[in-house]
Amino acid sequence: MSIERELKKRSQNKCELCSNEENLSPYQVLPAKNSDLQDNILACSTCITQIEDPEQTEPNHWRCLNDSMWSEHIPVQIIAWRMLSRLRSEGWPEDLLDMMYLEEDNLEWAKATGEGEDPEDKIVHRDSNGVIINAGDSVVLIKDLPVKGSSMVAKRGTAVRRVSLDHENAEYIEGKVDGQQIVIITKYVKKI
Ligand SMILES: [Zn+2]
Repeated sequence: MSIERELKKRSQNKCELCSNEENLSPYQVLPAKNSDLQDNILACSTCITQIEDPEQTEPNHWRCLNDSMWSEHIPVQIIAWRMLSRLRSEGWPEDLLDMMYLEEDNLEWAKATGEGEDPEDKIVHRDSNGVIINAGDSVVLIKDLPVKGSSMVAKRGTAVRRVSLDHENAEYIEGKVDGQQIVIITKYVKKI
């Protein structure tokens, strides 16, 4: 039997998260272990879209976890844990998380995607357009920037290659301009 058929049987043709009966497809819970029934869930397109894109997550949709977090199926529990962790600041998900119990190795699996880490631990650097900057990326200055502690001005349009990130502060990156290592404010750059 294909995974999809087995999942449909397991779930009685319903989204295992919100019970929706339409637009269902298998969704693999990453990082996958065996690529079988034990790391797949049957989910609707609404749930899948929101799982994959934190910016489209609508907290109220996930009230469905009130029920589905008690699923006997581990992959369903994993996704429930991750979504509750993502939404923790809403308050009610925190209460549900407190009631949830995952075996140690399952908890490790749930945490593998970094969902639910303290925001302070997860500093994300973004350029002026909100694009994520990673260490080693190149950026271009979109503004003339005076360089602190010198008379130098880093000109708008200057490309800065292989930047490094300030791990304490999401607003700062560092890179070399004219052979000099300078601190640059992320809102004045564009990733190239
Ligand atoms: Zn759903």
